[in-house]
Amino acid sequence: MSDTVKELKEKLCYKKTNGLKLDNVDFNAVEEFNKGYAEFLGYAKTERLSVKKTIEIATAAGFVEFRPDKKYSAGDRVYVNNRGKSLALAVIGTEPVEKGVRIAVAHVDSPRLDLKPNPLYEEAEMALFKTHYYGGIKKYQWTTVPLALHGVFCKKDGTTVEVSIGENEDEPCFVVTDLLPHLAQDQYKRTPGELIKGEELNILIGSRPFKDDESSELVKLNILNILFEKYGITEEDFLSAELECVPAGKPRDIGFDRSLMGSYGHDDRVCAYPCIMAAVDTAAPKHTVVSVLADKEETGSEGNTGMQSTFLEFFIDDLAAMQGGKGSRALRNSKCLSADVNAAFDPTFPDVMERRNASFINYGAVITKYTGSRGKGGTSDASAEYVGWIRKILDENNVVWQTGELGKVDLGGGGTVAMYIANLGVDVVDLGVPVLSMHAPFEVVSKFDVYMTYKAVKALFDAE
Ligand code: MN
Ligand code: MN
Repeated sequence: MSDTVKELKEKLCYKKTNGLKLDNVDFNAVEEFNKGYAEFLGYAKTERLSVKKTIEIATAAGFVEFRPDKKYSAGDRVYVNNRGKSLALAVIGTEPVEKGVRIAVAHVDSPRLDLKPNPLYEEAEMALFKTHYYGGIKKYQWTTVPLALHGVFCKKDGTTVEVSIGENEDEPCFVVTDLLPHLAQDQYKRTPGELIKGEELNILIGSRPFKDDESSELVKLNILNILFEKYGITEEDFLSAELECVPAGKPRDIGFDRSLMGSYGHDDRVCAYPCIMAAVDTAAPKHTVVSVLADKEETGSEGNTGMQSTFLEFFIDDLAAMQGGKGSRALRNSKCLSADVNAAFDPTFPDVMERRNASFINYGAVITKYTGSRGKGGTSDASAEYVGWIRKILDENNVVWQTGELGKVDLGGGGTVAMYIANLGVDVVDLGVPVLSMHAPFEVVSKFDVYMTYKAVKALFDAE
């Protein structure tokens, strides 16, 4: 190659970078950040536990519960807890809120198996729970993996009983059984989506009968007796409970080189943790920064803890009103990263991706200009102007980043909360971590990409 061609190529051609080949990256910082993330993720198995853990982290970092009637000044750190399932952290800036805030939003709900309102039954002298799956799952993946149970019983007397069982090795766990291959001839004839049907996602929870007695359903009775002794609840208390079954266990390093991390629930706690830490690590910002942990993304962001609710809008309004300003003006001047994952290129399934526009493991945080499906249906599509501004701040802060689409144009698609934030008049684009096996009980990410997502959110918070 002649020097001219080389020079021209360098000057004119866009080149993606594998971050692990760079020598100006602090890989100790990558490891340290991921240690913190693994610890968070190992505990934060549900949206409720994510919010609980985040309040712990935030409180230790000087955040206090926000009071709308109070006046806060630059550098003050506050949080708003939305029903224990969604949360906003804010650090007040030196500029008026009306001049715009910097927002990062991630979601802390993940696909899982919820218990039905009347879940407990006995069949063939075994006790089981009926479930209703939450979010988009390949149902067959959820059989024969150890499951833990987390959630709350809200009793009629106004008290709440928290349940968290199955994560530690000295605790029992639960499981959805599957058919042995020897007898699966008919099961194999089903369509893949029906290989396991929703009503077959039944969780095995016990088999010991109450005692040698003539009565029926003694296994179920024995389970109820255990639950009463341990939690003080009766079968009727399931009617006002929220109980979520998730894959049991802690995150693990993946690969001989330990460059990757496998776990349940990366989508989207892998972006939530960077958003939390970016707020925690922001001391005296120019613009007020807000990190939001949202619920219900996996089911369409509906409900009063989802991003279609007024939670964020009214919080920004409260912040502006405290300075005599207007929330609508603040929102119009605000900039946001909708921090959510994208599908990483998988060498085993290359056909679903268009290589030039797919995101790759270790190539850094992935910007997804638009999501949606087919002809960009159901997306906000960030403006070129805003993506241009984001590019500048990412490059200025040495953030390794790439762009990605969610697979080939006609193959499928998906959405994020970006469009609901855009509806508030905020400039927003998706940025997050590329994930392998998304929505599976065990998802994989690159530690480098996790750290770069943190750096990206921090760059937004620090920007002029
Ligand atoms: Mn997500
Ligand atoms: Mn998802």
